[in-house]
Order: sequence, then structure tokens, then C-alpha cells
Amino acid sequence: MKVTSFIKQKSHRNKISNISNNIVCEEESFMKISGKSSCPCGSKKRYKNCCEIFHRGKLPKDALLLMRSRYCAYAIGLTNYIISTTISTSKEFQNPNWENEIRLFSESTKFLGVTILNKSLGDIESYVTFRANLIANKQDISFTEKSRFLKIDKKWFYESGDIL
Ligand SMILES: [Zn+2]
Repeated sequence: MKVTSFIKQKSHRNKISNISNNIVCEEESFMKISGKSSCPCGSKKRYKNCCEIFHRGKLPKDALLLMRSRYCAYAIGLTNYIISTTISTSKEFQNPNWENEIRLFSESTKFLGVTILNKSLGDIESYVTFRANLIANKQDISFTEKSRFLKIDKKWFYESGDIL
């Protein structure tokens, strides 16, 4: 998986620069996070005890964990995680600028955490309604979305979302 190799590569670089326990994001200029930081998803847990394990390749056991880890991936700029957890039939895969758009959104936005408003967790289909707390250009761009997730071959994917 791309994300895993990316993290390994960054860890290696960290050893060289003598910074331990840090994951440096693809765009190093905009945000760095260490395992000890509180998780950007707003869980109040440390990153290493929360979304990091999923970013390193463990599969979230339900759609709620996937949703949080995707929000967190946006917050720290893990574009590959967003892409690899989006269902392959998504029209985004036909958008040649998709990866850049994710990166731009990550870089230009402050992620203040996510609030879960409602959830319906099934075996192969789940819905999570959440409030994403965001600021960009000093303006509140928070939104509420009802996302649909599907499980395929034991792995949960983001399928689509409706802004409420
Ligand atoms: Zn988290």
C-alpha cells in the first residue's frame, strides 16, 4: 500500500535528521504531526493511539473509524489514504486533478475536529452523519455531511456523501 511505503520512507528520513517518532507529511511546510500529538480527528486520543494505525495500514473495523481516519488524513495531508479508501467506482477517479485538489484543500484548511451527529452501522453498508469543523481564509467553512460507506472484501470504502 502506498501510504505505508510513504510512512516508511518518511520515518527513514526522520532517523537521518534525528527527529524520532515524527511523521512528516508530504507537504512538510504546512503541517507536521507526531504520534504524541492529539489526533486531528478530535477524539482527544493521541494520534498514535487513534488514526495513525489506520494510516499505517490496519483496516478500520467499521465505517465510523474509517470516517474519522479520513478526516484526519485530510488534516495531515495524507492524500494517498483518501484515494485508497474511496470506492473505485467513484467519479473522482476520472478527475485528473483530484489528488491536487485534496492536497490544496488540506494545505489551505485548518481542521478543528469532527463531531459525529448520527450513525447507522451495518455489515456491508453504513451511514455516518458528521459535522466537519473547518476554517479557511479565516472563515468558518464547516459543513455537515451524511456519508455512505460500503464494505468490499473486508475493507470499508467511502462511497458518496450528501451535504446537509
Ligand atoms: Zn483520530
